[in-house]
Amino acid sequence: MAQHLKRIDLTRDFAAHREEYLEAIRQVCEETAFSGGKYADAFDRAFAEYVGAPYACGVNNGTSALHCAMLALGVGPGDEVIVPANTYIATAWGVSYTGATPVFADCTADTWELDPASVEERITERTKGIIGVHLYGQPFDFAAVEAVARRHRLFVVEDCAQAHGAKFEGRNVGTLGEMGCFSFYPGKNLYAFGEGGSVTCSRKEYYEHITRLKNQGCDVRYYHDEIGYNYRLEGLQGAVLSVSIRYLPEWTRRRQAIGERYLREIQNPRITMQGHPENTTPVFHLFVVTVPDHEDFLRYMEEADV
Ligand SMILES: *Cc1c(COP(=O)(O)O)cnc(C)c1O
Repeated sequence: MAQHLKRIDLTRDFAAHREEYLEAIRQVCEETAFSGGKYADAFDRAFAEYVGAPYACGVNNGTSALHCAMLALGVGPGDEVIVPANTYIATAWGVSYTGATPVFADCTADTWELDPASVEERITERTKGIIGVHLYGQPFDFAAVEAVARRHRLFVVEDCAQAHGAKFEGRNVGTLGEMGCFSFYPGKNLYAFGEGGSVTCSRKEYYEHITRLKNQGCDVRYYHDEIGYNYRLEGLQGAVLSVSIRYLPEWTRRRQAIGERYLREIQNPRITMQGHPENTTPVFHLFVVTVPDHEDFLRYMEEADV
């Protein structure tokens, strides 16, 4: 990774809404609602509404969201979960942390997203489910992956860490599979001033189980019925995220306008762009291209001040 290139500037978002952010942070400090609590809960409600899911359970980061989703689905030692080979490593960690084995399936040559045919080839008697990733903000072919899952009685979980607001056939990511796992790492489409994540779902039992898991495995104070974790979302992050989520639709429209312009106007045969099927609405977390020589391309972009 070429560290000298600063590819993202987050200072503009803070500068644009400085007073709102500072006011939100001040409230949390004055009420000392630091760990979980009222501001984290308020964000859960706002995020569930944004995604259109009955439940959203805030956690401390996206990796924990994936871990909790696997635990809530009963994944453990001896199990296998299929994940795309083209993803960020944390998709696989969510599986590995439970003692299960992530099994990598290939991605399609045009969309660079999970290939349903490759998924089917990787299924064994140990396979419990599939985590599909909406990588770069481009929804994977959920209908085809779900069809494979249904034939083999497997779950599908969505890794939505790069895809807040994206749609597959008009339906929001995070509402398609058994659960949706989101990250609010700085630089994601919606981000905390620190770390954060969320699991969305429509089944109350998942929501309640993950609420226990993130809270040291406890419902009733000092009673611990299973191994728990300290995975709570911080109050400060909840408050900051509640401000940012108001601007997310506007930020997303801008990403889409820029992404669509690139797709329309970049006509260089040496640049290959990701395929965006008609039945999907991408949110362009990253605009990724493949080129014959990436060092050369980066130098060219830098010189052109892009
Ligand atoms: C960022 C990311 C994660 C992990 O999220 P963290 O909040 O950094 O733990 C998982 N999967 C994908 C695809 C990501 O991009």
